[in-house]
Amino acid sequence: MPSTHCCACGAATSIHRHHLYPLALVAALLDCTLRHYQHSAIKEVPTDQPWTSLASMAELIPVIAANQSASKQQARELADVMQRNWFGSFDRLCLSCGIMERDES
Ligand SMILES: [Zn+2]
Repeated sequence: MPSTHCCACGAATSIHRHHLYPLALVAALLDCTLRHYQHSAIKEVPTDQPWTSLASMAELIPVIAANQSASKQQARELADVMQRNWFGSFDRLCLSCGIMERDES
């Protein structure tokens, strides 16, 4: 696996084009979870009890699993847009300093 450290600033925020889809999938699954949790949480009375919200969120796992094909499509679309608009012909982008690099061939 290529280094995630930027060659210019050294930050561990350099993203390779091959990692766009997995990162977008994490974001899409989180988005799906939050959208469904928000919908169900509106009906709940706020509480200070620890872990209550996490337990409620865990109840959404079957819903998230049932929607995984939509999340994959959402991720594919975002990854494609990022590839086209951000990366172009480059292979990696540092989110800290903005430098773009090509893989050595
Ligand atoms: Zn950098």
